[in-house]
Amino acid sequence: MPSQPLQHGRDAAYVVIGDGIAGSSAAAELAERTTDASITVVTAESEPLYNRILIKEFAKGNLDADVVRMHDRSWYDDRDIDLRLDTRVETVDTTAQVIETAAGESIAYDELLIATGSTPRSLPVENADADGVTTFWTINDAARIRENAAAAERGVIVGGGLLGIDYAAIAAAQDVDAHYLIREDHWFSGALSETGAEIVHEALRERGVTPVVETEVERFETDDGHVSAAVASDGRRYEADCAGVAIGTTPNTGLLEETPIAIEDGVVVDETLQTAVPSIWAAGDVARYDDRRLGEHVSNGSWGSAAAQGELAARNMLAAPEARAPFEYVPSYSVSHFEFPLASFGHPRLGDSYQERQYGDREWRRLAFRDGQLVGGVLIGNREPLQAYKQLTASGRRVQHQVQQLLAPSFDGMVPTNSSSPLASD
Ligand SMILES: Cc1cc2nc3c(=O)[nH]c(=O)nc-3n(C[C@H](O)[C@H](O)[C@H](O)COP(=O)(O)OP(=O)(O)OC[C@H]3O[C@@H](n4cnc5c(N)ncnc54)[C@H](O)[C@@H]3O)c2cc1C
Repeated sequence: MPSQPLQHGRDAAYVVIGDGIAGSSAAAELAERTTDASITVVTAESEPLYNRILIKEFAKGNLDADVVRMHDRSWYDDRDIDLRLDTRVETVDTTAQVIETAAGESIAYDELLIATGSTPRSLPVENADADGVTTFWTINDAARIRENAAAAERGVIVGGGLLGIDYAAIAAAQDVDAHYLIREDHWFSGALSETGAEIVHEALRERGVTPVVETEVERFETDDGHVSAAVASDGRRYEADCAGVAIGTTPNTGLLEETPIAIEDGVVVDETLQTAVPSIWAAGDVARYDDRRLGEHVSNGSWGSAAAQGELAARNMLAAPEARAPFEYVPSYSVSHFEFPLASFGHPRLGDSYQERQYGDREWRRLAFRDGQLVGGVLIGNREPLQAYKQLTASGRRVQHQVQQLLAPSFDGMVPTNSSSPLASD
């Protein structure tokens, strides 16, 4: 039951577009906090919420598809949530407060949450649509990747980010001899230095995946419609029975094209996750929210953040304007493909300066600072200080001058408070 005044009458209509973790978390929160409201969740996918961050383990062959499923029909029925599967929303009419589906149905809303996530980009090169070339976002993609990798001897992976490393780990798990083509001079560039990335490159080589840096794919070659090789811009040819493309994602904002809602690499929302158009909110990967600590709009692209945004957007929809809370969560993202852990937190690429330290062959850390505040970082080999770093990031304190303590091997969050200034007094 709500603990604060409701924005609407008890029978308001809440519509959520997207049944990923952001949309589903919002629907759960709305159901928990209302009694007679109508709650509708509309999704283009044919399955209710599943665990997107586990589908890589399914693609590796380590898990069955059933294990990654999170909600079944009864979860929605029990909460009186009207779930519409296989229903793509084409347009939103913000004046009439109605969404239109591809099948021509209109659904009216009092409050609307856009939780449509993002779609991986395809490579704009010849034969990028050949059999055996995939991008990776859905459980159906994971099934195709699993099947391709199981039948392949050689493979190519394109794209030096966090989804690329998932492809690399799938290739390793499925005994595919793979080349990993990275445009930059090392993996996860911007967040890692070459020193940190080399720990990951070495672990990949040990698993039969060869990183090839500063290279771009110019075209794929095919044999009877199926990919047979990737040809790089320097002319080198990499034979491949399968290819994984992970060159970034585009937020799913097409349905808002005809609306006055601001779109800038995502749906622009304020710190409470509301757009400038009344009664329309956004959460999850599609949301570009006002991060008060950074003083700019950012998106997060992580599971925990999408869940937290969905819940907060729902609470703020229900709250009176003066009672709405800002989004202040510090995201983190863990990679568990190697015998050593790797975790990034906050915004590891958004610093104005960076400090790093190596502790051993496979232990390394890098912290990103902006205006003296910790804004993000990456930990390899030891994730014990992760929570302490996240708390320090959340605090907004200026701590860069204490970097020796921050990078101490057993940093536990204890930095003196007297020599740092809180963000609020700036
Ligand atoms: C392979 C993989 C591994 C990942 N690993 C990690 C990890 O280890 N850690 C981590 O923190 N994050 C990870 N992520 C990222 C994480 O999964 C996402 O940040 C998170 O799932 C985003 O949730 P979301 O609800 O915002 O969007 P999504 O999960 O993308 O859900 C959006 C939903 O909206 C639907 N939709 C879109 N447009 C429409 C429309 N017009 N009409 C109706 N429905 C629509 C989509 O079909 C989709 O179901 C990974 C992602 C992938 C793909």
